[in-house]
Amino acid sequence: MAEKSFKYVIVGGGVAAGYAAREFAKQGVKPGELAIISKEAVAPYERPALSKAYLFPEGTARLPGFHVCVGSGGERLLPEWYTEKGISLILSTEIVKADLASKTLISAAGETFKYQILIIATGSTVFRLTDFGVQGADAKNIFYLREIDEADELVKGIKAKKNGKAVVVGGGYIGLELSAALRINNFDVSMVFPEPWCMPRLFTAGIAAFYEGYYANKGINIIKGTVAVGFGTNGNGEVTDVKLKDGRVLEADIVVVGVGGKPLTTLFKDQVDEEKGGIKTDAFFKTSVPDVYAVGDVATFPLKLYGETRRVEHVDHARKSAEQAVKAIFASEQGKSISEYDYLPYFYSRSFDLSWQFYGDNVGETVLFGDSSPESPTHKFGSYWIKDGKVVGAFLESGTPEENQAIAKVARVQPPVSSLDQLATEGLTFASKI
Ligand code: FAD
Repeated sequence: MAEKSFKYVIVGGGVAAGYAAREFAKQGVKPGELAIISKEAVAPYERPALSKAYLFPEGTARLPGFHVCVGSGGERLLPEWYTEKGISLILSTEIVKADLASKTLISAAGETFKYQILIIATGSTVFRLTDFGVQGADAKNIFYLREIDEADELVKGIKAKKNGKAVVVGGGYIGLELSAALRINNFDVSMVFPEPWCMPRLFTAGIAAFYEGYYANKGINIIKGTVAVGFGTNGNGEVTDVKLKDGRVLEADIVVVGVGGKPLTTLFKDQVDEEKGGIKTDAFFKTSVPDVYAVGDVATFPLKLYGETRRVEHVDHARKSAEQAVKAIFASEQGKSISEYDYLPYFYSRSFDLSWQFYGDNVGETVLFGDSSPESPTHKFGSYWIKDGKVVGAFLESGTPEENQAIAKVARVQPPVSSLDQLATEGLTFASKI
C-alpha cells in the first residue's frame, strides 16, 4: 500500500487535535504539511457536548454545531476549514502500530504514514464492565459514552425505550450528567455507585449533599455504597435488570455505564517514558523521544503551580496543552523559546439548570459557603480548599462569569486566610476582594 508522508502528524482527532490544528494555522502551517489521523469518522468536536445537549429531547446539539473551537468561544472548524488550509483530515483510520524510531505509523487497513514531528493526542478510553467479567455485561442496551458513535447508539436506545427505566452505573460527573439527561428524556432513573457520595474525587460531602438532594427532588433514585454485579437479559439478549452486590435488583430497559477510563498510551509502550499512567512530557509537551509531543488526556506534564507532575483529563487542558505544543514546535523551528506551561486546573460540569466550575487543587481543609440547600431558589453556593493557611482551590455553583473569574483568581493567587469561620461567612465576597 502507498506510503503517505507529512511534516507534522497528529494521531487522534479529538479536542486536542482540533485546537492544535487551529494553532498550526495561526502559526502559518503550509498546505500539505499537516495531517490529523483519527479513528472517528468526523472532524474534531467538543467532546463534552456528548453527555449534555447531544442527549436532550429539545435544543439537541448535533454536528456540525459543536465542532471545535466553538466550546471556548472561538469559530467552528468545519470539515471545509481543514480543506481550505490544506490540512489532511484522515478519518475512520485507526493507527494500530507506531514505531517512533523509524517515525512510522501503520493503520488497521495497512496504510503507512511517515512524519517528521508527531503529536500524540489519542485521549482516553472508558473502562467496560465486560473487562471486569461482570456477568451479563455484554447484553444489548448497556451503553458507554466516549465517542460520537457511542452517543448515537445511546440516542437510539433512548428513543427505542421511551419513558422506560434507566440505571446509570457510576457516580462521577459523567454519571451525574447522564442521569440528568435521561431524566429530561422522561426515564425513571436510578444511579448506582459504591462511594459514600457522588463525585468523590472532587466533591466534599457538603457539596455532594446539594446535588444528591437536588437530583432526588427531580425524581432520581440514588443508590450508594454498592455496585452492579450482574445483568439479567430477555430472549432478545436485551438487558432487563441490574443485580446489585447488596442483593437488590433494579429493573432496567437501558443501562449507561460511566465508571472511569484510562489514557490510550499502549501504542507507544516501551518507546517513550511514562509517568503516573500517562506519557511523560516537559512544560512544552515534548516527550522523552525527539520530535514526539503528547497533549491532552495522555500527557503527564509539570504542573508548575504545584511543583509536581500531573495528568489532567479535562477539556480546558486538552485545548491549552495542544496550543502550547504547537507554539513550542514553531518556536523551536525558529530558534526561539516560549514560556513554560503554567496551568491552573479548571473543570466544569452542567446538568439540569445547574452549572459549576472548579479551579485549583482540592486538597486540605474545606469550608462550604452560601446556600447549599437543595431547595435553595438561587443554588448559589461554593467551597474553598485551604492548605498551609492559603486558599488553593475554589468551587462555585451557579456563578456569574465575573464570580467564576473571581474564584479562578483566588485559586491562582492563593491568598492567606486566618480564620476558616470568617472565610465561610464571607463566602464569595472573599474572592471578589482578591
Ligand atoms: P479526545 O478528545 O478523547 O480525542 C482522542 C481522539 O483520538 C479520538 O478522536 C479517538 O478516536 C482518537 N484515537 C484514539 N486512539 C487512536 C488511534 N489508535 N488511531 C487513531 N485515532 C485514535 N471535560 C471537562 O472539563 N468538562 C466536561 O464537562 C467534560 N465532559 C465530558 C463528557 C464526555 C462524554 C466525555 C467522554 C469527556 C468529557 N470531558 C469533559 C473530558 C474531555 O472531553 C477530555 O478531557 C478531552 O476530550 C481530552 O481531549 P483529547 O484530545 O486528549 O482526547
